[in-house]
Amino acid sequence: MHPYPFAYHRAGSIDEALQLLSTHADDGKLLAGGHSLLPVMKLRLAQPGHIIDITGVQELRGVQQVDGALQIGALTTHHELATDPLITEHAGLLAQIAHVVGDQQVRHRGTIGGALAHADPAADYPAGILALDAEVVARGPGGERVIPIAEFFVGFLTTALDPQELITAIRVPVQAGTGFRYEKLANPASGYAIVGVAAVVAKASDGTIGEIKVGITGATDTAFRATTVEDSLRGGAGDAESVKAAAKLASDGIDVLGDIHAPVGYRTQVTQNLTRRAIMNALEHASA
Ligand SMILES: Cc1cc2nc3c(=O)[nH]c(=O)nc-3n(C[C@H](O)[C@H](O)[C@H](O)COP(=O)(O)OP(=O)(O)OC[C@H]3O[C@@H](n4cnc5c(N)ncnc54)[C@H](O)[C@@H]3O)c2cc1C
Repeated sequence: MHPYPFAYHRAGSIDEALQLLSTHADDGKLLAGGHSLLPVMKLRLAQPGHIIDITGVQELRGVQQVDGALQIGALTTHHELATDPLITEHAGLLAQIAHVVGDQQVRHRGTIGGALAHADPAADYPAGILALDAEVVARGPGGERVIPIAEFFVGFLTTALDPQELITAIRVPVQAGTGFRYEKLANPASGYAIVGVAAVVAKASDGTIGEIKVGITGATDTAFRATTVEDSLRGGAGDAESVKAAAKLASDGIDVLGDIHAPVGYRTQVTQNLTRRAIMNALEHASA
């Protein structure tokens, strides 16, 4: 199906994009990789009258190390994340995730900013970005603001961004000595996560679990941090039995989704199993 007609605008800078967003506040949409926006437009689930193409905005590209964090430009593609040396060295979890997003074409066009702004409940990055305790840097008419990731995903396809704001970057704390792992059961057709679980573990000097963060996507209508799992393991030895017991808490307190790909009971089981696997693997690779 063809989308409804729209006007096309090409922004050359962040300021220009913001100006266009505020002019077309009720009817404008940013275009990054187009791999989520165009499908929903073709299905006529979204009918923006104005498309603001930001792909030429160079300020939104690139990965830099700034004050103990990696600053990842919103237009960084999945392929760039999968292959960037700074990401591989300091935030390897993101490289691991980027490798399993969609297919080659999706990875070369789709961007991390677009993926987070779209907030698809089956998208991969949200699990990892939550487990890395990242921050989203956004600019709007009132200037810049930093949104902790715990406050960013607010519901199905919904984020804390205002309609006139754009994501400029994602800040990820540099990881040292942590073990990490992303486990995903992929939809065989699209590659999206039926369930995806990211775990980041730091060991204390005595070898116990000093810190643990677990992000889960696909299980319910928005990605979330599995804090009950984390709380039950923090300070413990992280043996196989305790991890198995903790992983069973991963689906507590959420409305597990059921659909043609995975009914509720199956998705619940997958959520628990992938949580156990992700944590065990992260533990194996964490250094004391
Ligand atoms: C066949 C196929 C398979 C896929 N498989 C997977 C998969 O396995 N896992 C996965 O996670 N994803 C998957 N995707 C989605 C893909 O990763 C998209 O690239 C991504 O979700 C959106 O990024 P984009 O740059 O294409 O954004 P766009 O489609 O351009 O934009 C998406 C939304 O974000 C907004 N937006 C874009 N950039 C910004 C910004 N900087 N600030 C604020 N708002 C912004 C747009 O206005 C729009 O509302 C798949 C997509 C396709 C088509």
